[in-house]
Formats: sequence, C-alpha cells, structure tokens
Amino acid sequence: MPTTAEPSLTAPDCVFCGIVAGEVPATVVASDERALAFRDIEPKAPLHVLVVPRDHHADVAQLAAADPELLAAMVGLAEQVASDESGGQFRLVFNTGPTAGQSVFHVHGHVIGGTGLGWSPA
Ligand code: IMP
Repeated sequence: MPTTAEPSLTAPDCVFCGIVAGEVPATVVASDERALAFRDIEPKAPLHVLVVPRDHHADVAQLAAADPELLAAMVGLAEQVASDESGGQFRLVFNTGPTAGQSVFHVHGHVIGGTGLGWSPA
C-alpha cells in the first residue's frame, strides 16, 4: 500500500509519524492522500485498525480545531475499512488525554468491529 504523500506537520520520536513515513513497520490496510489505516499491534477485536492523519496533531480535539476536513477524511477512511472488513458496522474511538487511555499523542481513531460489541467503557 503506497504511503507517498508527504506530511506537512511531523513530530520527532512519534511512532505514528514513523509509520506514515514508512520508517516503522505496520500492516497498512487502506490509505489516501491525507490519512492512513493500519492494524493495531495489540488488537482488542477481530477488526482493530487505527486511522491516523499523515499530519501530526496531538489529539482529536486539536485536529478538529485545526483541520476539520482532515477529521472528516479520517472518518471516511474508517468507514471504508469497516465496509471492507465488518459489513460497514464499526465503533470509532478517540481516546483523548492520558486519563481517558490515550498513550500515543498523534491522533488516531480506533476502528473496532467484526464481532458483537458490548458497551462498557470502564
Ligand atoms: P491509545 O492508547 O488510544 O493511544 O492507543 C494507542 C494504540 O496504538 C494501542 O492500541 C497500541 O496497541 C497501538 N500501537 C502502538 N504502537 C503501535 C505500532 O507501532 N503499530 C500499531 N499499533 C500500535
């Protein structure tokens, strides 16, 4: 899967910037000019893919403020992955802040599906 578009915003020592650059290995399942989807290394469901923008933004709130069209592009890529792999049904989660479970500070949406999902965030 090509990852040819050059991001205009990057951060040093960011693992997801490394994946976007092709410097960190990842299983990429979909991509477009502005975003990339790859499998989570510790999947929590049969479908567990991360959708990231090529540009570095720390979290979804910062991305929405800076570039709402890019957030919409990420949702579109999530929908495409779910259409390919889980009948178009999916959960899209943006952990935002350490207390909410965010551990990588390059915004990413967890695209989760492929099984019946309960609703218990704790
Ligand atoms: P967070 O906890 O919401 O920030 O999610 C970070 C996710 O990134 C976790 O589910 C990790 O398993 C995943 N992750 C971390 N490093 C990599 C990697 O190099 N490739 C794929 N997934 C990763």
